[in-house]
Amino acid sequence: MATTDHLIICEHCDCVYEKVTLAKYQKTLCTRCGGVLQRYNGLTLQQRLALTLTALMLWIFANFYPVMSISLKGLKNSATLWDSVMALSLGPITFIAMVAAIAMIIAPIFQLLLLIWVLGYALASRRSPAFKFCMRWLETLRPWSMLEVCLLGAMVAVIKLAGFLDVLPGIGLIALAILSLMMIRIAGRDIRELWDIL
Ligand SMILES: [Zn+2]
Repeated sequence: MATTDHLIICEHCDCVYEKVTLAKYQKTLCTRCGGVLQRYNGLTLQQRLALTLTALMLWIFANFYPVMSISLKGLKNSATLWDSVMALSLGPITFIAMVAAIAMIIAPIFQLLLLIWVLGYALASRRSPAFKFCMRWLETLRPWSMLEVCLLGAMVAVIKLAGFLDVLPGIGLIALAILSLMMIRIAGRDIRELWDIL
């Protein structure tokens, strides 16, 4: 049977190419649609696992510490990510609360747990149990994880509210900012390399 391990398919237009080894800062583009096929990522398994564990800590900070605190004439209030989801669920469109919870909280934590599971075994040069299942879910969850959108929203809220209330960005917001950057680095398209490594 012909092996297809050396081939890569453009996820935008299904054009098939042969994989190449990339040097630093290089990426390969689809000649038909211009989509990115491969991007250099110098992370070793150990580094990726270490970053994933750090990201897990940041996720905890982002979810259990207030994203911002507001005060007006002695009255104080602070809100975590979960509080914002609960507030949305009380509004007219409950469905949006579910989408927000998936995009800000549920998808990122599942991505992190799946990565820790797969990478933990990968360190011992082994395929984790349910490896295929985990890798497919990592791919499925990627577009659902929208921490950067959530971060932008929180920053817009902080700046807007600062005009007429005393607003203090919380630990949660700082953790969220770093976490959203880290997620791009550790859970991006290049996790596909694990298929080849293992
Ligand atoms: Zn293409």
